[in-house]
Amino acid sequence: MRRISVFGATGSVGESTFDLLMHAGGPASFDTVALTGGRNVQRLAQMAVALKAKLAVTAHDDCYEPLRLALSGTGIHVAAGTSAILDAADAPTDWVMSAIVGAAGLEPGLRALQQGATLALANKESLVTAGQLLMATAAAHGARILPVDSEHSAIFQALVGEDISAVDRIILTASGGALRDWPADRLAIAKVTDALAHPNWSMGARITIDSASMFNKALEVIETREFFDVDPDQIEVIIHPESIIHSMVGYRDGAIMAHLGSPDMRHPIGYALNWPVRAPLPVARIDFAALGRLTFQSPDESRYPALRLAREVMALRGLSGAALNAAKEIALDHFMDGRIGFLDMAAVVDATVSQLSAETRLGTAATAIEDVRAMDHLARIRATEHAIKRQLR
Ligand code: NDP
Repeated sequence: MRRISVFGATGSVGESTFDLLMHAGGPASFDTVALTGGRNVQRLAQMAVALKAKLAVTAHDDCYEPLRLALSGTGIHVAAGTSAILDAADAPTDWVMSAIVGAAGLEPGLRALQQGATLALANKESLVTAGQLLMATAAAHGARILPVDSEHSAIFQALVGEDISAVDRIILTASGGALRDWPADRLAIAKVTDALAHPNWSMGARITIDSASMFNKALEVIETREFFDVDPDQIEVIIHPESIIHSMVGYRDGAIMAHLGSPDMRHPIGYALNWPVRAPLPVARIDFAALGRLTFQSPDESRYPALRLAREVMALRGLSGAALNAAKEIALDHFMDGRIGFLDMAAVVDATVSQLSAETRLGTAATAIEDVRAMDHLARIRATEHAIKRQLR
């Protein structure tokens, strides 16, 4: 039986993964090695019981006792803390879902690759912060990374049977997020609740706000560069409000391969779970006549500075992705707490990356996880300083 683990099981991607695992037979079909979560211990416990997991881990030490109580008498082992999550990633497993949000998802994924597991990668921050390290680790251990972000799964599928050297362009589609139709002069006053009202996708709060600011797309552009090893100039972004085309690959003969599907994360997760087989999935089928039309718009980079910052990071490479991501996470925390405005997020990230590029050798590639950790730490300090400055204005 296939041994599986889900990191970030209680989140939006984690829930969709759980749904698919149960749909495919649950404990009758999978040997669940570990499920991890954060504060939502009751849900983690329910999932662990349903999948008959061997181990349930919460990221937070103060959640250990409630998790232990919820699972007492079940025989499921319980652990807490960051090191317990890393220990869970070291346990021999065949397929691992990486769905922790933020930079915290990097190390468990690296550990899973080191023991040769197939890594279903939703945590885009892993490729943004340490793309070269992650890909080298997979290659060194004969492990495979399967993309779960819907755009990258779409590109991966559009490349099946093709030669990457025949690729002319990769076109990432973007919904444009909750504030897509807001006039630019109102963006400065957008509140968290406004940015959370995503028109198409139901996702975790952080990625939904990143979608409105286009930082999500910025991370995905960098993710594309790292995962598919294409030239940054080959990567384009187009706003496609209907979110039906998940991304496209353009070949040198002018042909475009597009991946279409309903906006449901169970699609790319299911593809990664069943790969290389295309198994039936419980997702809605597209009714083209009901859709009527698909539309596209060019993104305005003056409205979305995150896209320009992604280009800068791709030019610098090295540790610049770790700096951008950490600064973005801090800026997002400040926006979510109501301390800075919506447009301040890009300003904080911009100021942090510029400062670090003057102060450090941002373009130097990480040779070990410690390099990434150190840059992440420094960028968080600088970004906090910039966020406080903007807050005091
Ligand atoms: P959520 O916020 O919904 O879930 C995050 C998960 O990580 C939860 O299980 C949470 O636990 C856990 N978690 C939070 N902080 C930590 C931490 N410090 N250490 C360990 N675990 C932690 O996120 P999403 O599911 O939306 O996103 C997960 C990842 O997938 C992100 O990288 C995102 O960019 C990517 N992604 C998401 C998509 C989506 O549709 N949601 C689409 C494509 C990619 P708890 O909730 O119990 O506190």
